[in-house]
Amino acid sequence: MKTIVILGSTGSIGKSLLKIINKDKKSFNIKLLTAHKNYKQLLRQAKLFKVKKVILTDKKTYNLKKENFTKNNISVFNNFSELGKILTNKVDYVMSAIVGLDGLEPTLKLIKYTKNIAIANKESIICGWNLINKSLKINKTNFIPVDSEHFSIWYALNKKFKTTNVKRIYLTASGGPLLNISNKKLNKIKLSQVLKHPNWNMGKKISVDSSTMMNKIFEVIEAKKIFNIKYNQLSILIHPDSYIHAIVEFKNRMISIIAHDTTMDIPIYNTLFDDNKSYILDKSYSLDLNKLNSLSLKNVQLKKFPVVKILNLLPSKSSLFETALVAANDELVNLYLKNKIRYNDISSLLIKEISKKYIVIMKKKSPTKVSSILNVTNLVRSRINQQIHIK
Ligand code: NDP
Ligand code: MG
Repeated sequence: MKTIVILGSTGSIGKSLLKIINKDKKSFNIKLLTAHKNYKQLLRQAKLFKVKKVILTDKKTYNLKKENFTKNNISVFNNFSELGKILTNKVDYVMSAIVGLDGLEPTLKLIKYTKNIAIANKESIICGWNLINKSLKINKTNFIPVDSEHFSIWYALNKKFKTTNVKRIYLTASGGPLLNISNKKLNKIKLSQVLKHPNWNMGKKISVDSSTMMNKIFEVIEAKKIFNIKYNQLSILIHPDSYIHAIVEFKNRMISIIAHDTTMDIPIYNTLFDDNKSYILDKSYSLDLNKLNSLSLKNVQLKKFPVVKILNLLPSKSSLFETALVAANDELVNLYLKNKIRYNDISSLLIKEISKKYIVIMKKKSPTKVSSILNVTNLVRSRINQQIHIK
């Protein structure tokens, strides 16, 4: 029986993982599930999978709803400070799938308590990779990437992180829902159109990031950190159908092209099983090879996706600049979702903000503590909000 923990079990990634586990329930013993506010879903999951311990991080929800858990003999905690009581031995597998930078501390805390950690939470990797990597080494914990592009690169590298024989890695991008809409029309674009991703069903934030190409910029940073490769060895290719997730060109000119159907179930399943439990991924998951007849791989157009310029501004060493970039984009996407700025403002204000001196100097500062990452996040968020308010 595999012992496991899911951080963010009520989210899109968490639910996909539980759906897979549900097909082979007897092979798993779930030690801990966590959510922020969605206590109903968390309770349902805990009952279905006979989980005895859960964490509900939102204070108000925890105070109002903790009895719903205790009367079902489920211990409920409000934060991660008592992990030592919850997990007495190292578990076999942790899935880190909280959204946003709030996932960083829990991810770092869990590394000590697991043999393997699959990390979906992009923000943790982009802002805190050096802290994560250090802890992985100290605690001898294996890391598995979950994001489909990074999972595919890792798969092409035979489940290793060694890239000395790699010439170039291409990350594919669908181009999102606005790929074929003229720039002129973008300022009048409706939110519903922005959120309507052609191939993937995802949360609002990541859907907006896919439409601006910011999601792919983040994934390039993720890839650089995870695989310890140079930015000039990473490229983005537009591939509207999203069947191919990564292309790895080796120095010997051999090329690995990794394809799978457009569902996160496939990388998630593969982070969990080494063996071939093929009945879990039935034939509905196999890709019709006819679909690979017209791949239409293209370079990204800078005019269409101005945020691609940001690739030239990234420092070669891990720095607090990446955190500032994540925070600035987060805040601008929030403002857009609240109808405070227009769609095109997301990219133009982002490029303007990260070119300011207070952010540029962060390129020389290494993210050595969680507190410095959180401080930069708060600073950038409040600077952006002040400006929008003054406007
Ligand atoms: P969701 O928004 O669907 O789920 C987020 C989960 O985190 C929920 O369980 C939520 O709980 C919990 N959560 C939210 N806020 C907090 C908080 N402040 N503290 C603790 N827990 C919190 O996100 P996704 O599952 O889509 O994505 C998770 C991560 O994986 C993200 O970083 C995303 O970028 C990355 N990712 C996602 C992909 C996808 O296809 N969805 C693909 C690749 C990467 P509650 O339900 O109670 O709010
Ligand atoms: Mg991805």
